[in-house]
Amino acid sequence: MNLSRRSFLKLTGATAATAAVVGAGISKVAADYEPVRLNYAKEVPTVCTFCGVGCGIICHVQDGVIVSTEGDPASPLNEGTLCPKGVSSYNVSYVYDSQGRPQPNPRRLTKPLYRRPGASDWEEMEWDEILEKIAKRFKETRDDNFIEEENGVENVNRTDAIAWLGSAFCTNEENYLFKKIIRGTGIVNMDHCARL
Ligand code: SF4
Repeated sequence: MNLSRRSFLKLTGATAATAAVVGAGISKVAADYEPVRLNYAKEVPTVCTFCGVGCGIICHVQDGVIVSTEGDPASPLNEGTLCPKGVSSYNVSYVYDSQGRPQPNPRRLTKPLYRRPGASDWEEMEWDEILEKIAKRFKETRDDNFIEEENGVENVNRTDAIAWLGSAFCTNEENYLFKKIIRGTGIVNMDHCARL
């Protein structure tokens, strides 16, 4: 297509004007929508659970139910933006039915699962029960395998019998506390997807 200089300027001017009108329309929709959503929902800040970047997310909660999620503009890491995985974080709790309505995600775990030694199936447990079991086995394993002296070196104070894997499902502060526990109990085998 051949365009004269005058036609080109006319065309780009019309395109810019159209974009401005559409942009204004979008801004108006956003401006109309924002106060309504914030009026009925409580904002609960959290951290994206998918990777080690740790982007901030705001959950909009109504009557104890998350009704939407979005990037947290106050987070210095993502400044309100989210990658496609973070944008889909709403679907950790909800999936859409054939009518496009959100329904509780049936695959979401709400209780700890435990598989007994030799068993092939997992069983649900209460938090108090599983935490006590973990604490008891942790202490026993650590005490039974604690090395105080090795190859003539004193105060080695470590154990190789336990390994610890951190998680991006935890906040920076939680991972800091994990590290304190791990170091304090002599565990040297540790890792985390973000190397925290
Ligand atoms: S939004 Fe994306 S980049 Fe940010 S923490 Fe989640 S998965 Fe990682």
